[in-house]
Amino acid sequence: MPFPQRLTHLRARLDAAEVDALLVTALPNVRYLTGFTGSAGVLLVTGSGDPLAHLVTDGRYRTQADEQLVAAGVHGAVELTVGGVQAQRQALAARARAVSVRRLGLEADHVTWSSQRRWTEDLAPAVPVATSGVVEALRQVKDSGELARMERAAAIADAALGEVLSLLGERRREDEVALALDTAMRRLGAEDRAFETIIASGPNAAKPHARPSARTIVPGDPVVVDFGAIFDGYRSDMTRTFCVGGEPAETLARVFEVVGAAQAAGVAAVRAGVTTGDVDKACRDLIADAGWAEAFEHGTGHGVGLDIHEAPALGPGSTAILGADVVVTVEPGVYLAGIGGVRVEDTVVVTADGCHTLTRFPKDIAA
Ligand code: ZN
Ligand code: ZN
Repeated sequence: MPFPQRLTHLRARLDAAEVDALLVTALPNVRYLTGFTGSAGVLLVTGSGDPLAHLVTDGRYRTQADEQLVAAGVHGAVELTVGGVQAQRQALAARARAVSVRRLGLEADHVTWSSQRRWTEDLAPAVPVATSGVVEALRQVKDSGELARMERAAAIADAALGEVLSLLGERRREDEVALALDTAMRRLGAEDRAFETIIASGPNAAKPHARPSARTIVPGDPVVVDFGAIFDGYRSDMTRTFCVGGEPAETLARVFEVVGAAQAAGVAAVRAGVTTGDVDKACRDLIADAGWAEAFEHGTGHGVGLDIHEAPALGPGSTAILGADVVVTVEPGVYLAGIGGVRVEDTVVVTADGCHTLTRFPKDIAA
């Protein structure tokens, strides 16, 4: 979807959010709507009668903001004010007054208490109204350009894992392997890692979000590898769990089997029209049948895109309906304290009759 169309779609949603205008302060949302990637910027989007949105930022981004608005094709649709804090506030206030904004939406999930008070003062007489997930709802459905970037991010991550996998059998430390994986992703074209890489071995594998430690990885260990790349702003997310030497001990062998089957069942359940809860249930039932309901303590997945965790969330009983071109992860896991854990995760694009998997690294557990 071209950028100008994103602004149009957002304007069409303002009525439903019961606001005359939305003050977009979450930077990934500003980026999504305008192409601007600076670390400071606020976008005021007013209703359908007004063809101009207003972006304010500071002098560090004067040239960049201009270039990026042109590149996104929204130069004519977004008025830009560059200046100090005071100038920025005045510009937004003037714009809000000019189009008689009475109810001003703030992004409640991203605005601090103090900035809410400041906006209320600056933009009076407009009354601040809490909104949630307005731009995020648009971001769920990816266009072909976004999907191409995510495909590329996932391919970089796949290739990077291929380069470093042998390190798991070389008695290296978790943090050494994590660094090697991060470096490989950068070398292969990632602009950054999508989040802090998880390399969790042996008993550490029982902690779903362990940080890489100085522990040396030894034969027989399960090793959870959860990581992703960023390509042109868009992220990938994949987990594979390996067993060093390829032969897990009794309980772990069963955990590998059950989690693998649960993950496959979850991916098989994904298609347009099902609920997020349906996908969660497909994974969770298999794990519960194996007697490990309590050992699967997190949701089955989440949306991915400009952020690593986006809408929709795939958890027990969640009711959002998956639409085509929504990108979600499917990542069940079983974690047994003192023994270890297994998680398997793919990032998939929802299609009319199933899904298209972006993360394609093989699921063989031997390493
Ligand atoms: Zn992950
Ligand atoms: Zn994930």
